[in-house]
Amino acid sequence: MSDSSAADILNKIKPLMHKRVGPYNSWNPVSRTQIWQWCSAMGDHNPLYLDDQYRAEHSEFAADKAVAPPAMMQMWSMRDVNGHDGPGSTTDNLFEILDALEQEGYAGIMAVSYDQTFHRYLEEGDRAHHYSTIINVSDLKTTGIGKGFFVTQLAEFMDQNDELFAEARITYFKYQVPKKPAGASKPSAPGKINRIHPVENHDHAHFWQGLRDGKLLIQKCDDCGELRHPPQPMCEHCQSLRWSTIESKGKGTVYTYTVMHYPEIPPFDYPNAIVLVDLEEGVRIVSQLIGTKPDDIKVGMSVEMKLTEVQEDMTLPLFHAADPSTTEKP
Ligand code: ZN
Repeated sequence: MSDSSAADILNKIKPLMHKRVGPYNSWNPVSRTQIWQWCSAMGDHNPLYLDDQYRAEHSEFAADKAVAPPAMMQMWSMRDVNGHDGPGSTTDNLFEILDALEQEGYAGIMAVSYDQTFHRYLEEGDRAHHYSTIINVSDLKTTGIGKGFFVTQLAEFMDQNDELFAEARITYFKYQVPKKPAGASKPSAPGKINRIHPVENHDHAHFWQGLRDGKLLIQKCDDCGELRHPPQPMCEHCQSLRWSTIESKGKGTVYTYTVMHYPEIPPFDYPNAIVLVDLEEGVRIVSQLIGTKPDDIKVGMSVEMKLTEVQEDMTLPLFHAADPSTTEKP
């Protein structure tokens, strides 16, 4: 690791900013099949996208052209599964700045925000490409995971007429990975690797605070009464922004599960049973099932929550089998 001061590093990398890199071309035009796959995977049933009759009667869009959900914007000009950009794409390196920071010892990277603006819908047959520009690098900042720089990238998504249909501002934190994980100096936990605490912001701080207070809180729309989880600012049924919470009893059934065996990534215990639990209150939550052998886990089995302090700063709603005969003896 070099000993450059933060000012030296910034002087070195600032000339690499504001370079617009692109185009990154699409492999395929916007197609009904891909829109269908997305909507089906996301559970998005908005009839505007794929229902031609609905579009003819209720919108100004062409009846015979499927409309792409705005959130698909990044997908159209994405690399293929082998990591190759579409034909005619640039080979310039957008991430020179990230590489330079890495060489200065800031090897960690975490995505911290993704702000999107949509200017128009794409329709079947449209063809997308995008450009990217690093538009900002912060001064050296100290955070809970280490010291580093916030780097903001602007992605401009263009159509076949070179008109902007969407844009995104993506911020990464490029940081020095601490040599010793937090807490490593405590004799009781030598070298223990902690779970990374999820970001707590305005939209979900109530959920994490609730867990610390010993409660699993589920959001309830103040207008239509629908419950929702995970936390989000708006009710997807009535678009209301008004909400309160109810306390879950923590009882439910396993909707589905998967058991992770390999690779064994700390800090999790293996085999690691991840479950989707349908809570009695009517929402689904992702969690970890503890105390049951993988072979004994069954879809539909009754489970109960056990609020567990997995580490000093984190309480999680883990689940165990409600029937004690399926629970492993410690
Ligand atoms: Zn509502």
